[in-house]
Amino acid sequence: MSSRTIVLNDALYEYLLSVSLREPGVLGRLREETAKMPEHNMQISPEQGQFMALLVELTGASKCLEVGTFTGYSALAVALALPEDGTLVTCDISEEFTSRAKPYWREAGVAGKIDLRLGPALETLDALIADGESGAFDFAFIDADKVNYQGYFQRALDLIRPGGLILVDNVLWSGAVADPARGDEDTEAIRAFNQARAGDPRISLSLVPIGDGLTLARKR
Ligand code: CA
Repeated sequence: MSSRTIVLNDALYEYLLSVSLREPGVLGRLREETAKMPEHNMQISPEQGQFMALLVELTGASKCLEVGTFTGYSALAVALALPEDGTLVTCDISEEFTSRAKPYWREAGVAGKIDLRLGPALETLDALIADGESGAFDFAFIDADKVNYQGYFQRALDLIRPGGLILVDNVLWSGAVADPARGDEDTEAIRAFNQARAGDPRISLSLVPIGDGLTLARKR
């Protein structure tokens, strides 16, 4: 036993999944289709999807926001956890990736809950703010290009209601954030984002080492 977070080797990770993963079939098929793509590592892990769905339930969220749809796994996990009248606005620039998501959203019966906005997400978020949606969202998930993380977060914080939750993915960046030899643009952007959140008085904060590192920020 240790007072620090446990390291998961392959056997322990498989065990964790075997006793806790409840992935619906439609999500599993979407994950398997995405796993065949060269960009498959942009997809969240299934236990992270389940964790996010639980957070949606815990917060009672009904209006959600996502930056970075990719092939729609996280959007589907969130949409399945939403109440009947719940909605998710999800932003991406790729017609190619997001078109893979739609048949699965339809099959799962949640296509009507998901509002896909194609275009640069900073512009989409600014348009939501201009439309008077500040404070209207309960829950947000940021998982897109890392150089814009600060810009996405500032806008998400505006759009989220007090008490709402923002999740930010890849904040441990495969360990690169703690490797002094790594000075590339993405790593530096994530370091700057994490450093800014460390002392951000507008949020309550927890960085959870699930997947590639997930920051939970509750708006005060
Ligand atoms: Ca990610």
